[in-house]
Amino acid sequence: MRDDARTLPPGGTIGIVGGGQLGRMAALAAAAMGYRCHIFCPDEDSPAAQVSAAATVAPYDDLDALDRFGASVDVVTYEFENLPTSSFARLETAAPVRPHWRCLEATQHRVAEKDFVNGLGIGTAPYRRVTSAAELDRALGDLGRPAVLKTARMGYDGKGQVTIGPGDDPAGAWTAMGGAEGVLEGFVDFQREISAIVARTVDGDAACFDVVENVHRGRVLARTRAPARLAPGLADEARSIAERLAAAFDMAGLLAVEMFVTREGGLLVNELAARPHNSGHWTIDACRTSQFEQFVRAVAGLPLGDPGRHSDAVMTNLLGDAAGDWPGVAREPNAKLHLYGKADARPGRKMGHVTRLFPKTGG
Ligand code: AMP
Repeated sequence: MRDDARTLPPGGTIGIVGGGQLGRMAALAAAAMGYRCHIFCPDEDSPAAQVSAAATVAPYDDLDALDRFGASVDVVTYEFENLPTSSFARLETAAPVRPHWRCLEATQHRVAEKDFVNGLGIGTAPYRRVTSAAELDRALGDLGRPAVLKTARMGYDGKGQVTIGPGDDPAGAWTAMGGAEGVLEGFVDFQREISAIVARTVDGDAACFDVVENVHRGRVLARTRAPARLAPGLADEARSIAERLAAAFDMAGLLAVEMFVTREGGLLVNELAARPHNSGHWTIDACRTSQFEQFVRAVAGLPLGDPGRHSDAVMTNLLGDAAGDWPGVAREPNAKLHLYGKADARPGRKMGHVTRLFPKTGG
């Protein structure tokens, strides 16, 4: 597809870089709309490849494999952040990349991400870039304790994070984090964690799902409740933050924005993801259009669907052994079971999720 040909007709092929459950659920939605997916991923038998028309198994920086992949697809997208942007610069010569990989550059580096958010006048926790133990000491002096030290790059699901409390030795935290470039964040004593997911088309039309409430355990998402219980006006503010950020990226695709609701009732952005998000899985079963269908529509240049919620929902991740509870879940009348086809139930690994549906309340 030429970049000026904005709409990919059904029958076309969407190339997805990354082979995890987000790619799997996107490929299922794409198939329902008549598209084929081609997955690029270094692992054999990836969750996404299992349900797709084609797969290339190669490292993310294998230029020959990228060229062959680029030549066989009509549009390229991605389903996680920690990918080399140089690979997308290469792919872009063959097919449009949506969202543009500039979004990746900003969202794969926590300092660049927070600079971008603050640059729009949207709040984050206070933060300092740290590249040495001495800088960490200075940053702790500025921000106080407790504070959270995170790796600047390659962090996801709470990996590469350590909280530094009053009695903790910063040098130990610096070593535990691997001594890589980091960011120190002031600890937010939040009331609640929420997220907003917005879809945006090539032409700039945007549609946001209902704002949801997230509970993390051990820094990994455990549960999402839709809709979030929020003071009047706050959900609108969260949606407007997500829409402003997506417009500032001028992106075609999905943007997920994780936020803290502070004790004072304000909003601070914690993290952005320019792709479908775990906190949007509930939309498959409780909305007229799921986040995955919306993602496919945005990437393929179609108009967006109606994101309206027809049911309330609680989504629970099935981590590690918890996926073994599937027979009980399968018997529950209001539960929808989703398993990702992963063979090895390592502790904490996202194996699937269950969405429990309830009659819709409120607006
Ligand atoms: P992240 O990888 O940045 O999404 O962090 C994972 C989880 O750790 C968040 O969802 C919060 O529950 C917690 N967390 C991260 N940063 C902070 C912070 N600055 N203050 C308090 N809790 C945090």
